[in-house]
Amino acid sequence: MADYDYDMLVIGSGPAGQRAAIRAAKLGKRSGLIERKAVVGGICINLGTIPSKTLREAVIYLSGYRLRSIYGESYTVKQNITMDDLLFRTDYVVRHEIDVTRHQVQRNGVELINAEASFVDPHTLRLAMVDHSGERIATAANILIAVGTEATRDPKIPFDGQNVFVSDDVLSLKKLPRTLAVIGAGVIGCEYASIFATLGVRVTLIDRAHRLLPFVDAEVIEALDYHLRESRMTLRFGETVSGVELVPNGADSRVKIHLASGKEIVAEKALYSIGRTGATARLNLAAAGLKADDRGRIKVNEHFQTEVPNVYAAGDVIGFPSLASTSLEQGRLAACYAFGIEAKSTPELFPYGIYTIPEISYVGKNEEELTAANVPYESGKASYREIARGQIIGDNIGMLKLLFHRETREILGVHIIGESASELVHIGQAVMSLNGTIDYFVNTVFNYPTLAECYKNAALDGVNRLCG
Ligand SMILES: Cc1cc2nc3c(=O)[nH]c(=O)nc-3n(C[C@H](O)[C@H](O)[C@H](O)COP(=O)(O)OP(=O)(O)OC[C@H]3O[C@@H](n4cnc5c(N)ncnc54)[C@H](O)[C@@H]3O)c2cc1C
Repeated sequence: MADYDYDMLVIGSGPAGQRAAIRAAKLGKRSGLIERKAVVGGICINLGTIPSKTLREAVIYLSGYRLRSIYGESYTVKQNITMDDLLFRTDYVVRHEIDVTRHQVQRNGVELINAEASFVDPHTLRLAMVDHSGERIATAANILIAVGTEATRDPKIPFDGQNVFVSDDVLSLKKLPRTLAVIGAGVIGCEYASIFATLGVRVTLIDRAHRLLPFVDAEVIEALDYHLRESRMTLRFGETVSGVELVPNGADSRVKIHLASGKEIVAEKALYSIGRTGATARLNLAAAGLKADDRGRIKVNEHFQTEVPNVYAAGDVIGFPSLASTSLEQGRLAACYAFGIEAKSTPELFPYGIYTIPEISYVGKNEEELTAANVPYESGKASYREIARGQIIGDNIGMLKLLFHRETREILGVHIIGESASELVHIGQAVMSLNGTIDYFVNTVFNYPTLAECYKNAALDGVNRLCG
């Protein structure tokens, strides 16, 4: 290893890259983290996870959403909410997170290199320095590609970042629209559609599929579907967009969306959200002996190793599940493997959080998967409105469902929709990781009043169903 400049060079400072670079440094290795943007943190901190979740929280607070069931549907904390109101909170959190990340990287002795990297050979990178000081060549025993993704754009669509925009542009919007069309009902499309709808924007959500988020439990999706329609959202399923037209008229410009079925949807703005493409186009992968697929993604084995043994890839650039949480873990595991350190993880039990309004989270299998696999399961449910905490916080719509094996009573899945779903799911995840059964929840005392009590109510419901 002594012949190389670094033991590990990481391309991209998102969750996967940071975690890998820090892990390598903690193992006493010479570790460099290359980032082409002026700030660290990747899409996660600067344009994706953190800003969208902060924007959501600002919308929920300012719109009075949480307390509408108590004070009435017209209750708001602030009337005429503007983009500036929302960005005030978002900017504050993003700045803080960038600072924390930069500090962590520096404190752990990782060299931060502000440059765009591309391959010269499997051990050598060309670094185009962002400060325009020219190019530098750097070599490393191991290289990790953690370049993440970019919003997919169709060249036929007239993107202008304001009227027709992608999720990476949301923070740059100057004005909130009165009407919005969201093309693509994946996780990001659904999240933003529900955030804008909560602000009172009339949203039309369009997708080719015939239901929302097909990988989520059908009963949870039925509930989401109902609440999105309640927020006056129009859902257009089974529709293919054949064209998007910008009809400019100064402040009154409109976007016209043509559907293959012959329908037209007219809105003030359109969010195009049909997926993300791996940011590999400028990496010169061929020089490393690698090739990305047609969505810019790189294939890896279970150790996050590409076909070239010293080149690793982690995070969104390797595809599913494309979450910040799993990217962090992949980065750590890749660095450990590269330096021969044994590291364990339970990837099959990662929780999925979908920050629509209302929020969804789950871990393990859903009813459709268990039915398809002929697993004899039973379910138990609890509604937030039946427990005191649900009433106190004004969440009448939440629901928690436990799925468990009828014979072994082992917990097979936890599915939640409602306030704090993405926090509550970890109780179920812990019990599942320890091979716990439904009886754990029946016999456990929970704080009162809490949403966690739903676990006990759902478990009692499930056990009762076993008796008929
Ligand atoms: C709107 C939105 C909301 C999301 N919400 C959630 C959520 O709630 N929960 C969740 O878990 N996940 C969420 N995600 C997904 C999450 O953001 C990603 O899973 C995560 O950011 C992936 O991390 P990463 O390390 O792969 O790369 P990224 O965070 O994408 O970072 C990659 C970095 O690499 C840099 N880079 C690229 N090419 C080069 C190069 N050649 N040289 C130098 N640097 C380069 C880029 O500038 C970027 O900074 C969301 C994503 C979006 C877009």
